[in-house]
Amino acid sequence: MQTVQNGIGGEVVGSTSPRTAPVFNPATGEQSAILPLSTKAELDAAVAAAKLAFPEWAETPPLKRAKLFFRLKQLLDDNTDRIARAISAEHGKTFADAVGEVQRGVEVVDFVCGIPHLLKGEFSRHVGPGIDCHSDHQPLGVVAGITPFNFPAMVPMWMFPVAIACGNTFILKPSEKDPSASMIIHELFKEAGFPKGVFNVVHGDKEIVDAILTHPDVKAVSFVGSTPIAEYVYKTGTANGKRVQALGGAKNHMIIMPDADIDKAADALMGAGYGSAGERCMAVSVAVPIGDETANRLIEAMAPRVRAMKIGPGTDPDAEMGPLVTKEHMKKVLGYIDAGVKEGAELVVDGRGFKLQGYENGYFVGGSLFDHVKPNMSIYKEEIFGPVLSVLRAPNYDHAVKLINAHEFGNGTAIFTRDGDAARSFADKIEVGMVGINVPIPVPVAYHSFGGWKRSLFGDHAIYGPEGIHFYTRVKTITTRWPEGIKSGAAFAFPTMN
Ligand code: NAD
Repeated sequence: MQTVQNGIGGEVVGSTSPRTAPVFNPATGEQSAILPLSTKAELDAAVAAAKLAFPEWAETPPLKRAKLFFRLKQLLDDNTDRIARAISAEHGKTFADAVGEVQRGVEVVDFVCGIPHLLKGEFSRHVGPGIDCHSDHQPLGVVAGITPFNFPAMVPMWMFPVAIACGNTFILKPSEKDPSASMIIHELFKEAGFPKGVFNVVHGDKEIVDAILTHPDVKAVSFVGSTPIAEYVYKTGTANGKRVQALGGAKNHMIIMPDADIDKAADALMGAGYGSAGERCMAVSVAVPIGDETANRLIEAMAPRVRAMKIGPGTDPDAEMGPLVTKEHMKKVLGYIDAGVKEGAELVVDGRGFKLQGYENGYFVGGSLFDHVKPNMSIYKEEIFGPVLSVLRAPNYDHAVKLINAHEFGNGTAIFTRDGDAARSFADKIEVGMVGINVPIPVPVAYHSFGGWKRSLFGDHAIYGPEGIHFYTRVKTITTRWPEGIKSGAAFAFPTMN
């Protein structure tokens, strides 16, 4: 069986760790690889390689860095299908969905091909007699990224292209559940001609995460994953003097106004609720129709669609939804459906007991739809991360907005309406980081930035786009005067324009 390797200092190296974890194919339930849970010494070696590479990389002209990213972009485009197949085999999402993930990640590489422009500082002439002032964005040093299972290519690409283009060197700690995509990317880095040690991959679990968070040579950490771990990473990383951005979990609501086109809203909810088996941090997991009439029409439109959804392995070109990532996660999702029934929600479509011929050991759960969900129920309060959509009926628009604003998470949200006033007010008043107006999954394009509010993000910066440039650089401001402008004699008062 294949053993996944690390990528350290430009080389693919095996781990000597006695600890390993199995990687599974979620469609069949069969083990497909052995993952080393690397040692602290292996993380130290990666940090040392990245530290060694940093000074020369930081001095490399941005245009030269951009040229390497142009090459990497081409290689990623040429290898998209290969990366997508690896994702689909370990994550379970459909091939088309995996291709979409890679393409959205590569858009961040496209973005950083313009790094010379993005790193331009500001200049002010004549801020005082003979004095000029300019600011400069300088890299931080060795930075690290810790990523979740649900986007094994895209989420790392939210981080390393920006970090490396800014002049930092990078260590990626991918999810244990689907590690192979990161090693293909590592291979392409080498092929593109990046210097050794600029991009490193170390596989592992909490032990490696803790080693990153406490390593004195790691200057910044980007994390994406569940909220409890995001909070832990933020607190531990900042306590150790690091800059940290830690993106967490979500519960994304979509309001359906009475004037919305119900068929279009239902189509949008199918993709946003059940695409990738609901394992997206931007999945819509709560639909909030306004008024009972809208709710009845929505349930009528949704129930047959959910029942008709084509579920299959990622290799089936007709599949619209694949399995969940692991057996444990499948059990957790099934437990939530049981809890919803016990708590009194109406289970309109029951995905429990779904079996696929030939894939009886796969981690499949059928699409499930709840109506009459109440705010005190666990299926409403907690992130399920599965193909389970809750319909929570709101009597009016104001009630729906209060509901969303009261939720602990604030990652994404959407409104479906033809009413411009409602849409504008929604965008203005909702306490959520990413908002869609008739757009169900408003993941920002690479030249804007991605980030939730409340307990969906810990830290001061959203990820990629302009916020990413700020996160991975520190500003230096230089004030300049030449001898001719300097007056003789010491001045002890604080310098002013006078
Ligand atoms: P997770 O928190 O279990 O794991 C994320 C990373 O943290 C992994 O690399 C893992 O190895 C590491 N980790 C796990 N337990 C740890 C511990 N106790 N100490 C230190 N490190 C630990 O998340 P997941 O299950 O892989 O991913 C799903 C979660 O990620 C969902 O909550 C989802 O909403 C969230 N997510 C958020 C965003 C976002 O942008 N806000 C994007 C994608 C996923």
